[in-house]
Amino acid sequence: MVRSRICRECEVRTAEGACDLPENETCKLFELFPLVAQAILATDSDDIQDYIRAIRENVCSVCLDQRLDGECALRGRMRCALDSHLVAIVEVIEEATGKSFRRDSLTA
Ligand code: SF4
Ligand code: SF4
Repeated sequence: MVRSRICRECEVRTAEGACDLPENETCKLFELFPLVAQAILATDSDDIQDYIRAIRENVCSVCLDQRLDGECALRGRMRCALDSHLVAIVEVIEEATGKSFRRDSLTA
C-alpha cells in the first residue's frame, strides 16, 4: 500500500516507475519501515503531530544520517522520502487502521 501510494507521488520515481535514487543512497522510508510502522502503532493520538514526533524520536534517532544535534542534511534538502512524504504516509496508515487524525495542527 505504501509503495504504491508513496512511490507514485515521489519525485525520485522515473516515468517508467523505477526508483531513481543514486546507488549510494537508500530510501529511508523502506530501509527503516519496520521502525516507522512500530512508531505509528505505538502512538495513540488523534493529533498528527504526535505521530510526527514519534517518527523523529524513534526513527530519525537511529538513522545514520541524523547528526548528534538532531539536524539532518537530507531532511534539509528534501532528500528523505520518509520526511518529504510523512503526511501522506500517516494518511495511508490512517486509511489502513481506520484512525482519524486532526488536520488543524498539520505543518509538515
Ligand atoms: S525514494 Fe523511496 S519513496 Fe521515492 S520512489 Fe524511491 S523507493 Fe519510492
Ligand atoms: S529525516 Fe534524516 S534522520 Fe530522519 S529518516 Fe530521513 S534521513 Fe534519516
